[in-house]
Amino acid sequence: MNDEQLLRYSRHILLPQIGIEGQAKLLAARALVIGAGGLGSPIALYLASAGVGVLTLCDDEAVDLTNLQRQIVHRTEAVGRKKVDSARATLAAINPEVKVVGLAERVDEKRIEALAREHDVVIDGSDNFATRHAVNRACVKLRKPLVSGAAVRFDGQIAVFDLRAAASACYACLFPESGESEDVRCAVMGVFAPLTGIVGSIQAAEALKLLTGAGETLAGRLLLLDALAMQVRTIKLAKDPGCSVCGNNRS
Ligand SMILES: [Zn+2]
Repeated sequence: MNDEQLLRYSRHILLPQIGIEGQAKLLAARALVIGAGGLGSPIALYLASAGVGVLTLCDDEAVDLTNLQRQIVHRTEAVGRKKVDSARATLAAINPEVKVVGLAERVDEKRIEALAREHDVVIDGSDNFATRHAVNRACVKLRKPLVSGAAVRFDGQIAVFDLRAAASACYACLFPESGESEDVRCAVMGVFAPLTGIVGSIQAAEALKLLTGAGETLAGRLLLLDALAMQVRTIKLAKDPGCSVCGNNRS
């Protein structure tokens, strides 16, 4: 690390749980972020400011005026531009050291798998079950740690599936693919602006912990946040032996 890096990351280096060694791991790390919206914004902002070496962002949408209430990586002048290009500009201004790769494409399972293979951690900031399940299937297959998050109305949830461990539950153990899960989209339901910031920031924290080995992650737990009452609870997650993705009867 050069002198400027020692200064830039000094407040991480001061933490005994991270230190020079942990910061060096971050500089060498590659993170895949699915979605550059409400969750993807704080995820990308914190991973970039914290110096994660390579940040790959996937999102095929363009910035819309209705996004700006919560998608804090985008600026008013970016309306109409691809979200990944807008995000890349903001992130470069914060930390030019980070290599940000923006992929303005709708990713399917095959593509996610190819991308996840080249990254150390996958952070899912997408807003629909189809993408979440595709991301999960790729992570189960490759045994990549997955940080999952969701935010709608005043309700948030975060979970870590550390699929490097064989006993880890996966997203489909929690929400089976055959389930009646219906997408509740921000476009219809509304979303409290800072809720996406809280959930995305927790996802960023969990990703940084996975990459540095600091502390204990949310693996094996689901964190539920009610931002209206400001109550947080965690419930234990167990692997479902009958899960169609990670269980004994996987297809
Ligand atoms: Zn499973």
